[in-house]
Amino acid sequence: MAELSEQQKQERAQQLAAEAKSLKAKLREAKRQVAMVFDLNKCLGCQTCVIACKTLWTREEGMEYMWWATVNTQPGKGTPRDWEKMGGGFREEEPQAGQLPTKRDFGEAWEFNYDEVFFGGKGNTVHLQPSGAPDWGPNWDEDQGGGQYPNSFYFYLPRICNHCTKPACLEACPRNAIYKRAEDGIVLISEERCKGYRFCLEACPYKKIYFNHARQLGQKCIFCYPRLEQGVAPACARQCPGRLRFVGFLDDEGGPIHKLVKQWKVALPLHPEAGTEPNVYYVPPLSPPRFDEQGNLDESKPRIPTEYLRYLFGPAVDQALATLTAEMAKTKAGGKSELLDTLIVYEWKNLFGPFTNDPAALDRPPV
Ligand code: SF4
Ligand code: SF4
Repeated sequence: MAELSEQQKQERAQQLAAEAKSLKAKLREAKRQVAMVFDLNKCLGCQTCVIACKTLWTREEGMEYMWWATVNTQPGKGTPRDWEKMGGGFREEEPQAGQLPTKRDFGEAWEFNYDEVFFGGKGNTVHLQPSGAPDWGPNWDEDQGGGQYPNSFYFYLPRICNHCTKPACLEACPRNAIYKRAEDGIVLISEERCKGYRFCLEACPYKKIYFNHARQLGQKCIFCYPRLEQGVAPACARQCPGRLRFVGFLDDEGGPIHKLVKQWKVALPLHPEAGTEPNVYYVPPLSPPRFDEQGNLDESKPRIPTEYLRYLFGPAVDQALATLTAEMAKTKAGGKSELLDTLIVYEWKNLFGPFTNDPAALDRPPV
């Protein structure tokens, strides 16, 4: 076969690059986008959502250390430890290098000495402890928070995969194993195509993909799509006693998700500067005023520094906080606020858009 000229090689390379780009664009396509909104003013940090997800999806071998849904205390190092410093995502449309989190960064699945404590006949001479010497876990720095007394503060940050509109994980996968579902924009990994290269873990700026060491492939939150298909809300949202996890389609103009995100603009993506266009949104936390040096309340400064909230949610957080504060003032003065009524959620079904069917009606896999 005749050798290709330099120009032919260049043209061929350009053609291949264009084909790869168009394939990635196809994998990103979705007719609709399902989304969640978390109201951080209502999260109790009870971890019910975390356990609901864990017991449903990540009980198999190789998944022991996986927590697709997590709730961490902010400010804090999070899960995996220091994930916010691990890079990934995009800057000005260009993919950014990211770090590969280790199993230890996530926190190992510890073994406990249950047999010895409960059945060993040693009474109070032994107590429950994990094996090894764990130094991190999914909720290790719970309630530590930040700031100095009397202005110390913390709040909880629930996280799942953001089912991004521009998923960095999808972009980074050389096997084209990651795709968005056309009908709802849920980001999934094809277990047939995945070869466990882990570029997705490096690329995701939220570090929300786990590597299954037993099966040698990537796994992540699937937004409970088998439940959605039967009109049932994701387990984390349905089980949440705080009634703070809204589920629905972004384009449903009558639904709370659309109103909170698009109309009132009080629900914002986490670290929007990472450029992946997340579809999980947060109503930022309000807080009481700070104390000044004389110990008097300074009404002009919230306990949670707005600067910190800007770091998490971008500059739009100022307007979101102003809107929430103004609506609260309105109701205190005896007025009505559709926005606050929506966030209060008087009727639980108002949380879940078209996904209000009873989970008891689902077929359950044998335990
Ligand atoms: Fe991918 Fe990470 Fe976005 Fe989830 S959060 S879709 S894993 S880039
Ligand atoms: Fe927060 Fe709800 Fe999860 Fe409890 S179940 S930690 S209230 S999001």
